Amino acid sequence: MAHLQQVSTAQALWRGFTMRCPNCGTGKLFGRFLKVVDHCSVCGEEFCHHRADDFPAYVVILIVGHTMLPAVLAVDIDYAPPMWLEFLIWLPLTIASALALLQPTKGAIVGLQWQLGMHGFAASKLRGSARIQAQAAVDPPEAGTWNWCRHPVRLLPHHSKRRASQ
Ligand SMILES: [Zn+2]
Repeated sequence: MAHLQQVSTAQALWRGFTMRCPNCGTGKLFGRFLKVVDHCSVCGEEFCHHRADDFPAYVVILIVGHTMLPAVLAVDIDYAPPMWLEFLIWLPLTIASALALLQPTKGAIVGLQWQLGMHGFAASKLRGSARIQAQAAVDPPEAGTWNWCRHPVRLLPHHSKRRASQ
């Protein structure tokens, strides 16, 4: 069962960095630029528990600052270009690289929080495992052929509520 498989820290970080669900690696982690989805549309894993806050911004500043500043100094020392040219090159480059890194960095941090079971993620994982085991007891899968990520409807509670009301 894919949902119950252990995901390593490196795997969770990479899946988050590529803006995918750290649990299944398939569903999208973001609804909008920096808006994390409430739950994975593929496996149903909950992401409303993340507390990335402004930590991604600190990490991005750290990375961009430590790559841009040496480059600016090296170009300035070697070529001494006019100030207007330096602003023309480095300002857009710094802004673009910060914006490009912000979403993947936030994804990696959410992936890390999810993997470590921080905040509400541990309880959420337990609820997900219990739901899967309960469903497997009611509807046992054929050995080795069942893929939970391909059947997200069974994992999402709002679907079962809708079905019950019909
Ligand atoms: Zn997922």
